[in-house]
Amino acid sequence: MEFQRIILVHYHEIGLKGRNRSVFEKRLQKNLEALLCAFPIVTIHRISGRLLVFLREGTALEVANACTDAILGVPGVARVSCGFKCEQDMEPMGQAACIALAEAEPFESFKVSARRNHTTFPIDSMQLNRDIGAVLCEAFPAKRVQMKGQDVTVGVEVVEGSTYVYARSERGIGGLPVGSSGTVVGLLSSGIDSPVALWRMARRGAVCVGVHFSGRPQTSDASEFLVDDIARVLERTGCIARVYVVPFGDYQREISIACPPGLRVILYRRLMFRVAEEIARRERAGALVTGESLGQVASQTLDNIRATDASVEMPVLRPLIGSDKLEIIDAAQQLGTFEISSQDAPDCCTLFMPRNPETHAKLADVEAAEAAFPWREWVCELADAAEPHDYACPAYRPARQR
Ligand code: ATP
Ligand code: MG
Repeated sequence: MEFQRIILVHYHEIGLKGRNRSVFEKRLQKNLEALLCAFPIVTIHRISGRLLVFLREGTALEVANACTDAILGVPGVARVSCGFKCEQDMEPMGQAACIALAEAEPFESFKVSARRNHTTFPIDSMQLNRDIGAVLCEAFPAKRVQMKGQDVTVGVEVVEGSTYVYARSERGIGGLPVGSSGTVVGLLSSGIDSPVALWRMARRGAVCVGVHFSGRPQTSDASEFLVDDIARVLERTGCIARVYVVPFGDYQREISIACPPGLRVILYRRLMFRVAEEIARRERAGALVTGESLGQVASQTLDNIRATDASVEMPVLRPLIGSDKLEIIDAAQQLGTFEISSQDAPDCCTLFMPRNPETHAKLADVEAAEAAFPWREWVCELADAAEPHDYACPAYRPARQR
């Protein structure tokens, strides 16, 4: 007998109440439909507390596994189980369990974990464990049943008129579906930290729009290519909608000529924040995001954070503020951006840097230094000059259409 391959997508239900819940489910469903368009999927349904992905008849195990891998990294997905759908009848359930377990090779030990969502089915979960377990023991005489620390768990879920049987079940990255928490504008360098910061916000449901300040025309456009590679990684799980590239080199040069050297970096950063804020207004975003972590470099002291934050009205979110570099590196490796970010490219960070940057800037001194520049005009010029690059983000609607 051949069973239809399915993938069960579980999400955390904690904190999902009332209307919230159906908005969340619909958003996750739409995101998955768009992100998985390259896979042979018939439909995605919603069934009591999870999403059910139906794979086309005859889909190979490798394809089902690749589809499962793709779902695991999507924000809002707490767990993914890949297996079969069958009738609510002991015989097909036993057969489907045998096929699922055979596909889990190599393994030594297993157990059955059954759940009955509908009490209309006469056999309770304890009995299901025993009965399906007995079928599997007969089919796999060389394997042993083990209740703790088993290699494989065969899941059996009796839900709404059908049964779902699987031997592969893994934790997803969790969080909320992208598009359920509004839009943020992230300052995206080609470094290690900011891609992780943006991804963290996407995992909490925010659509991310990046702004990258390039040293062009004072430097090459190398950092822009790295940022594009980074955005493509974030695009795989629907986290990023757009990246604006801002040619910033000439403005930095102007600042470096007339500004006291110690305050240069803070003036660069205040201008960057203001341009990002202007872009955020145009995108109708609710906050800015940076990859800063307290004390990591000279510009990331409390005094300097205060001096840069004072240049904008929007909240500036810093999801990595309390993270150690090693933790951030681990996260970047998991995300898949570490290798890209480890390549060297000159961007505005390396351009016109002073030897001794101020670590405890006073706002009054900063504002006095800034008064020498027509920064209001610059903000408009730079926001107008920003070059948008679009990425596939199922949850994104360009601001004009919202
Ligand atoms: P990262 O690894 O993310 O580049 P960093 O450790 O190099 O961070 P800084 O250079 O001080 O730290 O930058 C702090 C934050 O400022 C970055 O995380 C990023 O959000 C923003 N930023 C820095 N440079 C740029 C840039 N060229 N374009 C856009 N944002 C930038
Ligand atoms: Mg940097």
